[in-house]
Order: sequence, then structure tokens, then C-alpha cells
Amino acid sequence: MALRESQPPTAAAPNRFLVYATGVVLFLFIPLVLFLFVRHPAPVGVSLGVGVLLMVGHRLLARPYMIRVAPVKCVWCNRVLPEAPQGKRAGETSLLELRSGGRIVQARCCAVHRQPATKFFTFLHAWRWPLRLGIFVPLLFLLTSLAAYAAGQPAPVSLATAWFKLVVGITVNLAALGYFASREDSRLDVPFPVHNFFLLGVRNLLWVFRLVGLWWIWQGLAYVLSQ
Ligand SMILES: [Zn+2]
Repeated sequence: MALRESQPPTAAAPNRFLVYATGVVLFLFIPLVLFLFVRHPAPVGVSLGVGVLLMVGHRLLARPYMIRVAPVKCVWCNRVLPEAPQGKRAGETSLLELRSGGRIVQARCCAVHRQPATKFFTFLHAWRWPLRLGIFVPLLFLLTSLAAYAAGQPAPVSLATAWFKLVVGITVNLAALGYFASREDSRLDVPFPVHNFFLLGVRNLLWVFRLVGLWWIWQGLAYVLSQ
């Protein structure tokens, strides 16, 4: 009976399932934080505190994940790419230099996804102030209202929640639709925490933005118009 040679270990090859599943689990922190803020289950002070802790602590897990997967999967469509950027299949993939907080992240992508990714990050940078204000002003209003309510003070929690949904819903739809009309800069500065774009890939994230954003716009408008 012939002895079969054992296959050489493929230590460098990423486990696709693990790469995708870890990204999904790390993404789920974001809806969990939003649930704690928007639904603020009682006791409100605990929901607020846990939400803030998760929001701040998330990057401790998400940044190492980004560093692990940036050379491995497409930042746009999230698929695990063929290995060896210099190999014979090099033409199928491309490299984007994303600048964030004084550092450069070398993000790989499919060659065909270089254009939408470049347009998207160019749009984010060009529109960074409307997008930042559209997230942080309603977030601040909601968090201060929750903190006041938790401290037993009168607080416009329902109003702040409705405005948070409406304004954030509009803002994320602006990001998810506006880039179609964007130019392409050669230098890509990312004005938001860059690790969040590697969890599901930008394309999947933008579908979450569009769908949840529309739902929130509807809910926010229904509240505001009923007052
Ligand atoms: Zn791709």
C-alpha cells in the first residue's frame, strides 16, 4: 500500500469562514450600541453606560481585525481575494492607500472595485463636515437627553430619539448615494474610523445604511409630523 504524502500546510491561507464570521460579529456591535441608545431599555443609565463603553471599546477589537484582513479581502465587496498581489493574478486586484489618523492602511480590492471605492472615499472626505455634523449633533442630543433622564431630570428623550433617527437616516443615505456623482481623488483621507469599513466591506455596509436609513427617516418623520 503506497504511502500518500501529506499536503504541505497552508498556514498563510486565511480561513474564509472565520474572516467573514469575525467581520459580522464585530459589525453587530454597531447595531447593539444603536439598540441601547435608540430603544434605551430600562434602566436607561445602564443602557447608556454600556452603549458608550462598547462604542469606545469596539476599536480595540476592530482595528486588529482590519490589520489582519486588509491584505486579504476586498474592502469594497468583502470577498477573500486570491493570494500574492505580485502573482500572475495580480491584474485582478488593486491596492488603495487609505489615510486615517496619520497612518496609511493598504487596502486591497478587486480591480473592478477600485473605482467605486475611490469615489466613495473621495466623497466621504469632500463631504466630511456635513456628514460628521449629521451624525454627531443628533448623537450628542440623544446622549445628553438620555443622561439627563437617567439622572431623574426632565428630558426630551422621545424627541431626541426621533431626530436622531431622522437626521442620521438622511446622513447615511447621503453617504450611500452621493458617491455615485463623486470625482476620484488620488489621495484618499478617511474622516471616519476606518476599521468600520472592513467589517462587512463598504458595499454591504452601504446597503445597511440605505435600508436602515430609509426605515429611520420614515419613523423619525412620522414622530415629528405627529407632534
Ligand atoms: Zn471586490
